[in-house]
Amino acid sequence: MNLSRRSFLKLSGATGLGLFFGEKIFDLSPVMAQVKLLKIKSAKATPTICPYCSVGCGLLAYTENGKLINMEGDPDNPVNQGSLCSKGASVYQLYDNERRLTKPMYRAPGATEWVEKDWDWMFDRIVERVTETRDKNFTAKQTIDDPKTGSKIDITANRTDAIASLGGAGLDNEECYLLQKLMRGLGVVYLEHQARI
Ligand code: SF4
Repeated sequence: MNLSRRSFLKLSGATGLGLFFGEKIFDLSPVMAQVKLLKIKSAKATPTICPYCSVGCGLLAYTENGKLINMEGDPDNPVNQGSLCSKGASVYQLYDNERRLTKPMYRAPGATEWVEKDWDWMFDRIVERVTETRDKNFTAKQTIDDPKTGSKIDITANRTDAIASLGGAGLDNEECYLLQKLMRGLGVVYLEHQARI
């Protein structure tokens, strides 16, 4: 179809008006709400937290036959009362996404390619690296000025400055507790959380 600029503007205007009056004459909102309800009618709703940022908005995850079918803001959550920002509103795509990684990927130092590894291999490698870094950079004792006498004294430090830990908004209270216990056990002193930075 050969559309001149004038005909294109006329057609766009007519389409816009049609949609406008269509919406005014036929109120589609109850139908749309019903369609949404039908989708989640027999689904199980499980409250959870948005993993993206430190606001920690509440979500409802709807599952049916063990499969996630929808996610939306939790109206009972006092933080967001059902509303979500555009990022949170798209959280379902974290799950339903052909680009989502479902297996651990490893890129060796200096390498340009990522290779797939199994979880056991990955966990062993993480433990190996953490242990090696911590042992090479562990300070058992350190010398400080005695605040009372001003003379030098040795104190127990049991710390490493070579590792830092950054918690994320996806971690719940219990996970944060376990993480800081592990880190303090290793002597890590740089403990941060996404909510503070
Ligand atoms: S919905 Fe938006 S504001 Fe709320 S936690 Fe997720 S990313 Fe943050």
